[in-house]
Parts: sequence; C-alpha cells; structure tokens
Amino acid sequence: MKSYLGIDIGAGSIKASLVDKSGNILKQTSRTTGAETNEKEFLDSIVDIVSELEDPSLVAVGIGSPGPIDTENGILIQSANLPLLANVALVAHLKKNFKFPVYYNNDANLAALGEYRFGLGKGSSNLMILTLGTGLGGGWVYQGKLFNGYRGSGMEAGHVTYLPGGSLCGCGQRGCTEAYFSASGFLHRYHETTGNHLSSAEEFFENVRKGEKVAVTLLNEGIDALSQLCRTLIHTVNPEKIVFTGGLVKSWDLYGNILKEKIHGLIFPIFRTYTQILPGGNVAGALGAAALCMENHE
Ligand SMILES: [Zn+2]
Repeated sequence: MKSYLGIDIGAGSIKASLVDKSGNILKQTSRTTGAETNEKEFLDSIVDIVSELEDPSLVAVGIGSPGPIDTENGILIQSANLPLLANVALVAHLKKNFKFPVYYNNDANLAALGEYRFGLGKGSSNLMILTLGTGLGGGWVYQGKLFNGYRGSGMEAGHVTYLPGGSLCGCGQRGCTEAYFSASGFLHRYHETTGNHLSSAEEFFENVRKGEKVAVTLLNEGIDALSQLCRTLIHTVNPEKIVFTGGLVKSWDLYGNILKEKIHGLIFPIFRTYTQILPGGNVAGALGAAALCMENHE
C-alpha cells in the first residue's frame, strides 16, 4: 500500500494528514503558526511534521499554501497571514532534509484536486472550482489533470474583469470580480460606501441577514459579478460542474439560489440543462494536498 502526505499551510496552523489512495487518514498532526512566525520556525515546523508522519509506505509529500507562490521553484513568495515570511525556498529545504518527491501548489488548485478526488467533483472529466474566501480563486481539473497554465499561474479567475475601471482590487487593478465577491472585496466596498469598517465577512453577512440596505446592495452587486464570471467560464471551458468552496460558502443560503438563477439567465439554453452549480468545500485542505501527490504517483 502506498501513502501520501498532504500538508495544508493555513491561517493560524499547518495541518497535515498521511492518507492512502482512497483518502483514508492513517495519521495526522498539526502545528500552530501566526503573525509572529519567522522563516526558521516555519521551516522547522514543516520538517518536524514530515519526520513525525514519515512512514515506509510514504511515496510523496504535497504542500498547499495561500499565495502568491512560485510553483516552478517551490517558493512561498508571500502570505498575508504569515507576514514575516518572504521568498521562502520551501521545497528546496524539504528536499535537503528528505528523499521524497515534494509537490507544491496554491490552495485554490488543491481545493480543485481535493473536490475531484474526494468531494463533489469526484471523477468529473471537466471540473471547475471557485474558492470564495479572503480572495476569489479558481482551479480547473480537466480529464483528471490540474490545469496549471504556462508557469503555474493559470485560472486566476478572480481577476477576470467585471467592471472596467471599477473598484480597486487587492491585485492593484480595478474592476476584478474579486473586488466585488470576496471577503476582502465586500469589506473594502462596505468601507468605501459607508466609511465604516466591518471586522469580518461574517459580520457583513450578518448585516445582510438583518436586511441592512448597504450590505444587501453590495451582496447583490457581488452576485452579478460572480454570475458574469461563471458565464465566462461556462462558455469558455464548458465545465460539467462548478463547485464553490471557501469560507463564504457558509452563507450560501443568502445567495446560492439567486446566483444559480442569474447564471441560468446568462448562458446558452443547452448549458442550463446539464451544468451543475454546487456548494462544496467539505474536503480538508490536507486531503487536497495529498491529491496533488496522487496526480503524480498513481
Ligand atoms: Zn484583481
């Protein structure tokens, strides 16, 4: 039996699971991280995790993290939640310490692989996932393979234009879909409109739930933006399923049905008959990272 080690670098912790081909967890562990974690502590934690979960059956290690990252050279360029880290040569460091192949990719791509192997996209020949979190990410698994683009930066779906010259996006451009539908987008636009800061996306959706006019208007505009993005993706790559993952899926009841309706109103009638729009996101990040190993070591 082969096993695969998936490591998910998230906000506040690094979670890791040793799993078999079916996604059964054989062992798991985690380490705490935070704003004060420096490069040495960060790399030591990951080496520690691999040493703890190392097993004779282990064939490869997969790692996922928020970006931006350099997949080709295995470098974590920057992370909003780990501000002391810059240009960390993560993969090279692990290869120095262990003999296993190490694979590294961003969390949206790994969410796509996780849904493809173990979630709502299981076995789909054309699966699109959109992560609705701090930002808006995309991942595309086509015929069992992750689409990476020329140098690993494919499917930056959140930066597809919704409104030329529109709201400022975290990427520095204006009018991206992410500026209209993401936690950072909602909070930024709420502040722009009211002058008030909200502490989190939860607070924003709570205001929607209470019927606060500004929040409801901003959510509706966000739904418009997201449905236009889905329209573009559906007409471009003809996915079987679009699965949504990420923290904002918790509030799916506030926008899911309207989103589906709007998308249906924007696409060719034939696409309405079979394109599935689904809230997912129940596959753990560490499983997605393990799925990255499986893609390379069947
Ligand atoms: Zn952008």
